[in-house]
Order: sequence, then structure tokens, then C-alpha cells
Amino acid sequence: MLTRDPSSTGGVKKGPFLAPDVAVVGAGPIGLAIAWRCAARGLRVVVHDPDPGSGASHVAAGMLAPVAEAYFGEQELTRLLTESAARWPAFAEELAEASGADLGYRTEGTLLVGLTADDLAEARRLWAYQQGLGLPVTPSRPSELRDREPALAPRVRGGAVAATDHQVDPRRLVPALRAAATAAGVTLLPTLVERLSDVDAGVTVVAAGCGAAALTGMPVRPVKGQVLRLRAPGAGAPCFRHVIRGYADGEHVYLVPRDSGEVVVGATVEERTDPTVTAGAVLRLLRAAVDLVPELAEYDLVETLAGMRPGTPDNAPILGPLPGRADVLAATGHHRHGIVLTPLTADLIADLIVTGTPDPLLAPFAPDRFAAEEDSHGRDR
Ligand SMILES: Cc1cc2nc3c(=O)[nH]c(=O)nc-3n(C[C@H](O)[C@H](O)[C@H](O)COP(=O)(O)OP(=O)(O)OC[C@H]3O[C@@H](n4cnc5c(N)ncnc54)[C@H](O)[C@@H]3O)c2cc1C
Repeated sequence: MLTRDPSSTGGVKKGPFLAPDVAVVGAGPIGLAIAWRCAARGLRVVVHDPDPGSGASHVAAGMLAPVAEAYFGEQELTRLLTESAARWPAFAEELAEASGADLGYRTEGTLLVGLTADDLAEARRLWAYQQGLGLPVTPSRPSELRDREPALAPRVRGGAVAATDHQVDPRRLVPALRAAATAAGVTLLPTLVERLSDVDAGVTVVAAGCGAAALTGMPVRPVKGQVLRLRAPGAGAPCFRHVIRGYADGEHVYLVPRDSGEVVVGATVEERTDPTVTAGAVLRLLRAAVDLVPELAEYDLVETLAGMRPGTPDNAPILGPLPGRADVLAATGHHRHGIVLTPLTADLIADLIVTGTPDPLLAPFAPDRFAAEEDSHGRDR
């Protein structure tokens, strides 16, 4: 249990601030949500970030997709995603109320489609696995899919419905979290933390996304994703309302419609660290998008950009105390899932700080599962 020392002084060492109970490094969705939840539990919280919301969340599509993203061999991660997604409705409601912001949270669900017979065969293998886990994937005939979304191409051979896979707009989520955290008493400081030893607090939470590797030695690596943003002509709404995830001639693509008229088209998955947007990626994403929803060819192409997912060797987040450092918690490595995992991560980490007892859900995601890598990289750099 964290106890407060009322005589402590100095937020960042040698600084003019009162020492907080909790210092969070990183003001992305994960760090801000943890800060908000800690403040709600009565803790004094400071968040350090020179550029809040500038990490992966700025690029992210915001799909809340524990079903569509249940991949072979990742059952523990799937359980975490499912548990967090179940918290999203209440979390969204509470956050909207606390911040006064519209999060762009939408619950129409997700259509999973295959363009060709080969695409459909590949997709069906995954759906069978997901159904075997008891996840709600409902195969649908092409006519049923087009009844739901008339804009789907006539060529689409078939698909399924993942009705419980929802979406939120990460570019609205982060400012909302910032507003809620600030209203709850959290202090944001524009500090780039270079060493953990520079931070003075009862507990330090490293929620710095890809920046966590340099601070902790944890094996978090950037996994590049290129995305495009299209806009419906004439400031109208997009011509479809579900998230559409598809296989189109072997390309995987997702299309995420926003109320603003925007459609996010993503994404590449590349083991690269450069922020370049390539012609080839734009070509493949656009071709797949237009193959599935032909009308998108008439949309404005308003943005192309690349972001870095904080990836880990097992694709799962790193949550809990660093080996040998009960006062330093990692909350990083959320890879493709940081938006869906925001509510649960925040609750589990805030509860751990307050009670000192890790929830059993955290066990598979403890930092010490990478102890060998961590030893060879060193820590507190
Ligand atoms: C193309 C793409 C699509 C995605 N789509 C989805 C999706 O549909 N659904 C989903 O759930 N997830 C998605 N993700 C993943 C999601 O964006 C990330 O998992 C999530 O943003 C991680 O949140 P975070 O707060 O840990 O890190 P980030 O969002 O990366 O934020 C990290 C913050 O830490 C700060 N920081 C870094 N180092 C330091 C330091 N030393 N000192 C102080 N501050 C520091 C940065 O400035 C930044 O503000 C996607 C990601 C990409 C790239």
C-alpha cells in the first residue's frame, strides 16, 4: 500500500515541485488514464511529457477489437483485450462526463470481409479459431453484409460480423483524458525524462510507449505502421458506418469511419524505425480500400503518416514492477492494442499502486518474463 509522506519535497529532483505520490512518464492514453485513475484514488500525481499525445496514439485507428484481433497462440492477451473492451462502455461514459468531450466512441460493430475465394479461405481459418474461443464472430452471406453496408463492393465473396468490436477516436480520447486528469488534480509537466533517477516520487510509472526501452531496458521496439486518412466529399458522413476489416487480394486492410467524415485506412506492419510514408504502402492500402468500398476512390486523401507501435517479443504489454524495483512500474509495450487496453491498464496499475497487491490478470504480463533480455540491456538508463 502506498502511504503518503507529507514532509516530502521536490517533484523532479532539484525542481520546485512538491514530491508526488506518483510520477507518470508519458502522456499518451496509457499514462494519462493511469494518472486520472490514481488521482481519483486520492493520490498526488505528476505526468511528465514534452509533447503529450504525440506518440502512437496520434496515428492509431482506435479500433476496440478483441475479437478481430484474437490471433493464434495469444490466448492470454485475448483475455486481457476482452476484459478491457468490456470496460469501455462505462469508461467512455465516465470520461465523457469528466472531460465534457465527445470521444467519438461508436458501437455499430465491425464487418470482417474477404474479397476473393482465397481471401475468404484465409479469413475463415481465423474466424474458426476465434469461434473456438467462444468469441462472437458470426459468418454472414455477401447479401447480408451488403444489407448492412450497401457501399461494399459486389465482388466481396463473404464475411462475418464482430458486433462487439467497437471504435473510439484516439485524437479525441487523449485530450479528453488530459482534461479529466487535470480536473482531478493531476499536474502535467513538459519534461523529457532522460533517466529514471531524475524522477522523485513514491512510485514512478513508465508509460512512455516506445520511449520505455531507453528508460527501463525492457524489450520494447518500434513497429512501424503507415496509415491514410480520407475525407468524404462535401463534408458529408462516410458511406458506411461499421468498421470494415478485410482481406483484399492478400492485402489486409481496415477502414474506420468517423462522424467527422474521415475514414482511417490502415495499416502496414513493418520492422522499421523511419517515419517515411512510402508510395508502395499508399498504393497497396488505397487499392485494397477501394477494392472493398469502391466509392472511396471519390474521397479526398487528406493525410498520410507513419507511427510506431510499442511492440514486445510476445506482442503483449509489460505491466508491473521492474525486477528488483518495487517503486518503478512499467505500463508499456501495448503494441497494436493500447487504445482498447487503456481502461483496464489504468485500473490495474492504479489498484496495484494503492493496494500493493497485483491483480491476477497482471501475472502473465509481468516485466520479469523478460528478465534475461533486461539483464543484458541494463536498466535505469
Ligand atoms: C498505425 C497504428 C494503428 C493503431 N491502431 C490501433 C487500434 O486500432 N487500436 C488500438 O487499441 N491500438 C492501436 N494502435 C496502438 C496504440 O496506438 C498504442 O498501443 C498506444 O498509443 C500506446 O499508448 P501509450 O500511451 O503507451 O504510448 P504512446 O501513445 O506512444 O504515447 C507515449 C507518450 O510518451 C511520451 N514519452 C516518450 N518518451 C518519454 C520520455 N522519456 N519522457 C517523457 N515522455 C516521454 C511521448 O511523448 C508520448 O506522448 C495503433 C498504433 C499504430 C501506430
